[in-house]
Amino acid sequence: MRLQMVDLQGQYQKIKNEIDTSIKNVLESAAFVNGAPVKEFACHLEKFMGTKHVIPCANGTDALQIALMALGLEPGDEVIVPAFTYVASAEVIGLLGLIPVMVDVDTRTFNVTLENIKQALTSKTKAIIPVHLFGQSCDMEAILDFAKRHGLFVVEDNAQAIGAIYTFSNGKRCQTGTMGDFGCTSFFPSKNLGCYGDGGALMTNDDVLADRARMIANHGQKVKYHHKVIGCNSRLDTIQAAVLDVKLKYLNEYNLARNEAARYYTSGLKNVEGLVTPEEKTYSTHVYHQYTLKIEGGKRDALKKFLEEEGVPTMIYYPLPLQEQEAFRKIARPTGDLSVSGELPSSVLSLPMHTELTREQQDIVMERIKKFVF
Ligand SMILES: *Cc1c(COP(=O)(O)O)cnc(C)c1O
Repeated sequence: MRLQMVDLQGQYQKIKNEIDTSIKNVLESAAFVNGAPVKEFACHLEKFMGTKHVIPCANGTDALQIALMALGLEPGDEVIVPAFTYVASAEVIGLLGLIPVMVDVDTRTFNVTLENIKQALTSKTKAIIPVHLFGQSCDMEAILDFAKRHGLFVVEDNAQAIGAIYTFSNGKRCQTGTMGDFGCTSFFPSKNLGCYGDGGALMTNDDVLADRARMIANHGQKVKYHHKVIGCNSRLDTIQAAVLDVKLKYLNEYNLARNEAARYYTSGLKNVEGLVTPEEKTYSTHVYHQYTLKIEGGKRDALKKFLEEEGVPTMIYYPLPLQEQEAFRKIARPTGDLSVSGELPSSVLSLPMHTELTREQQDIVMERIKKFVF
């Protein structure tokens, strides 16, 4: 039994019949671009998320780019983004000539907090991109309130947290990705809702923004061959939509399986000295795109190597914070104390986490971790 970070083959085998039929229908219809399943999936996802508009596009990075384009930001405008995230969250800011203002994250949740964001506010700040890292929501009530008071847009990077639920202090519950002006997600195969190639989507409750985003994703046209603005060509393939429409039905089940696996890890590892298990906040459910430990005492690399030799794969998300990436050196404005983002890359370690993980596999992972001398 080979341990894997993710097991997409095992997941496919369980729904093979449904998926194969769904793909075959697309092949037979030959409607490879903008076929009926694209719209059907978008409608089903709107219902699932409780959002007015889902705008499918080619990938999660495009979704973020299209969101920023639709908000009408001007070159030189500042966008606040966490320094500890996947590059895409900040890359699109730079790509559009906007200034990525990188801020630190919380050392326990790995997410940006209002405290981090506050320090970065200037007269040029126009938007915030909170990233719901590893599957748990940022504290959106505080962030949304701050954004409203200062007239800032909020674009949620929900690529890792689709299906997570945030609870406001008045008891109102919202899916992550549906609270900001836009929510953006990715259907990259290993994401919690993954297709069999690339895919992504934007979510919004605003009719005007939805209209603009749809137009931008389609070469800036509403009427064919009449281009109102410079847009891009970003579509979700019909085949991918057909796959996603099947998998969406299982998303809650998948997220539950991840959450249960996480609980099992945490119950087995929480008392191991030298390890810090993930913190779950009461305001958010956690859909565990990653199960990420912090390893104390400078032992992370030694533990990773030890586990590798023992046949246990692990990953480092992320090995370099954005403020240290060469690509951003000339354009970014890192702000304030970035010590947590600077430190996490040398202490985090993500364990195998997927929908097919068995207790037996987890027992092996944990037994090997405990074998390591901290
Ligand atoms: C995966 C991911 C993206 C980008 O998604 P792609 O579909 O690969 O373009 C953006 N942000 C975060 C946090 C991600 O994990």
